[in-house]
Amino acid sequence: MQYQSLQFAKKEDELEVTLYNLYTFSIPLDDVKRICPVYKIEKNSVDFEMKNKEKAEGRFNLLITKYIRNLKNKMSGFLAVYVHKNAGIPLFGLQFLGIVDKGSEMLEIKPITNCNMNCTFCSVDEGPDSSKQVDFIVEEDYLVEELGKLLEFKKKSNPAAQFNIWINPHGEPLLYAPILSLCERIGWFKNVGQIYIITNGVLLNKPLIDAFAKNKKVQLNVSISGFDDAKAKEMMGSTAYSISRILEMVEYAAQKMLVTVTPVYVAGHNDDQLGKIIEFVKKVGCKIAIQKFCYNKLGRNPIKEKSWDEFFAQLKELEKKHCLVLLGELGKLQQTEQLPKAFKKDDVILAQIVSPGRMRKDKICSAKGYSILVPGCEKESGKIKVKIIQDKYNLYIGKL
Ligand code: SF4
Repeated sequence: MQYQSLQFAKKEDELEVTLYNLYTFSIPLDDVKRICPVYKIEKNSVDFEMKNKEKAEGRFNLLITKYIRNLKNKMSGFLAVYVHKNAGIPLFGLQFLGIVDKGSEMLEIKPITNCNMNCTFCSVDEGPDSSKQVDFIVEEDYLVEELGKLLEFKKKSNPAAQFNIWINPHGEPLLYAPILSLCERIGWFKNVGQIYIITNGVLLNKPLIDAFAKNKKVQLNVSISGFDDAKAKEMMGSTAYSISRILEMVEYAAQKMLVTVTPVYVAGHNDDQLGKIIEFVKKVGCKIAIQKFCYNKLGRNPIKEKSWDEFFAQLKELEKKHCLVLLGELGKLQQTEQLPKAFKKDDVILAQIVSPGRMRKDKICSAKGYSILVPGCEKESGKIKVKIIQDKYNLYIGKL
């Protein structure tokens, strides 16, 4: 029995199963032996010495289904939920997971949660200091199939439209083990224009960049918010962060593909770093898009948000000083047909509990093909009555 996304190893009296390199759960060997006492474990397979292979496969898959409920993220230690096509968790409806379509040519893909960095200004509160309790990982096939259906739907109303895919999870996309094949498969859709990967760059290396560069649709957006080593470590909230390595990788990538450096300007924290970052992008020939720190109720907020006027004034000053255009014309996003709304605000619906949310006390429910986040729901299973309190862009929040 071959499993591409799973790896197996024997650990004392358990079979340790690793999913997408980062998630793990165990199956007691006694349970495995009950299928057949003679078996062979290899990296991506478990083989039972019995004639009826189908029966063995069925029984082993049942064990996986049973024990994958204990899946853990090895990096965070959090409970993890594997969102696969039979898990009953729709990929539409949630802000933090799956596919987000806000009715333009820009579609957001969120295959994973959590981060290997811990930025002081993280708008989604990810990384080791996060207050979240549950992580999520989406099956590659499921993501590609659902995206394909959405693109097909959009094509009907606008056959000529090209869609840009932004892989921008609440976390670090390069932690998603099948990121290369995900990009390759997304690139096969004819109505996909560019694929942007929003990364902190920590996991970039030359072979990975070479592989990304082979896909002409892929661009990298690398967030660099500090240039001096100590400041960069402080901004990223990690002593393991090596700015010199990130700069080396950005320089290498810029020779092969389109790269944009995307610093977040956190006034009072990295003012003196922006000029140095600008000089670096001028030297290596990549683009830069400085972002304004914005207050986020659910994020980390080291400062009070500055006004847009103050932000633009700062950029103008930097433009003058470094002779580089930083304030380009803001292109308007082209409107495209959205999936029909399943519910509207104030609707009261019956929804099936399918998973915990990012906090164990929250739940994800499913109804009419959408996921609905229901905060503060202690019930673990069954159907619940929910009042929809948010419906914008088909992203649903419900209240008990
Ligand atoms: S790299 Fe991005 S997701 Fe990760 S902690 Fe920093 S801001 Fe948050």
